[in-house]
Amino acid sequence: MDSRQLISFVVPCFNEEEALPIYYRTMEELIKNEHIIGDLDYEYWFIDDGSKDATIDMIKELRAKDEKVHYVSFSRNFGKEAALFAGLQNATGDYVVTMDVDLQDSPELLKEMYEAVVTEDYDCAAARRVTREGEKLIRSFLSDSFYKVINKMAEIEIASGARDYRFMKRVMVDAIVAMGEYNRFSKGIFSWVGFKTKWIEYRNVERSAGSTKWSIWKLFSYALDGIVAFSTKLLNLASGLGLGCCFLAFVGLIFVFVRALLYGDPVAGWPSMMCIIIFIGGLQLLCIGILSMYLSKTYLETKHRPIYIAREKE
Ligand code: UDP
Ligand code: MG
Repeated sequence: MDSRQLISFVVPCFNEEEALPIYYRTMEELIKNEHIIGDLDYEYWFIDDGSKDATIDMIKELRAKDEKVHYVSFSRNFGKEAALFAGLQNATGDYVVTMDVDLQDSPELLKEMYEAVVTEDYDCAAARRVTREGEKLIRSFLSDSFYKVINKMAEIEIASGARDYRFMKRVMVDAIVAMGEYNRFSKGIFSWVGFKTKWIEYRNVERSAGSTKWSIWKLFSYALDGIVAFSTKLLNLASGLGLGCCFLAFVGLIFVFVRALLYGDPVAGWPSMMCIIIFIGGLQLLCIGILSMYLSKTYLETKHRPIYIAREKE
């Protein structure tokens, strides 16, 4: 019996017909010639996230000539988080690696990750970008601000520049799969489950082929989702603002009252009144907005919809 330990590569793919063959070729070459994962056995789990191009045909082609290739194909685009979940759920390895197909998660790092998890006593090795060459300045700025905000607000700690590029032991994978929440924010989940993690820093690399699927707007709503998923502090903000306004109103009331007593009744202008009314109205809407963000997440969560729907699996 072959008792070699198995490692599963979980790779989400959305419209990646160009990047996929490059990924496969590079990985095979590094594993066979550079022995980046020692003598571990390995398998691939490609998750076709409802691609509109020939991604699934390419995966099937690979599958036809290589038994180590497995795949799940979604009935539509469910997003990268869902794809990661499907991969982790189906992977059978003693170790599981989640990585992007565009080679931005450099396979060269696998050697260091392998050593950290297999030979040293870490449960997980995770990659972290320390530079952002080739990325737009505004993107880097927004991204840095996001990490600052979420680390302040949530109980979890997310390293700045953390990628979803992880080398994990089976115990950690099981813990993640057990978290069946519908609104998945992997960076938060990885951190929430704990375990001993080694951070490996590396320099940003550009995509091998194809283009990113993240617009600034999409990133912004992803960031908001992350904050809502892992912190309830925004809800307290509403109470805090309300309390502050009450206090201000009370002070104002006393001021107006005393002034009227001392100087008679100099009613001055409604513009200032309008400003105050609009300001308070705005605050109330903001607070309702925050409430509804949590409500909408709760609503989706209580429906218990599946995280993804598979069309095919092999
Ligand atoms: N991806 C996915 N579903 C999506 C969007 C992206 O499975 O809806 C995959 C994509 O194929 C890639 C990884 O997630 O393997 C990261 O995507 P991308 O390179 O566009 O993100 P970036 O590296 O710019 O953060
Ligand atoms: Mg990428």
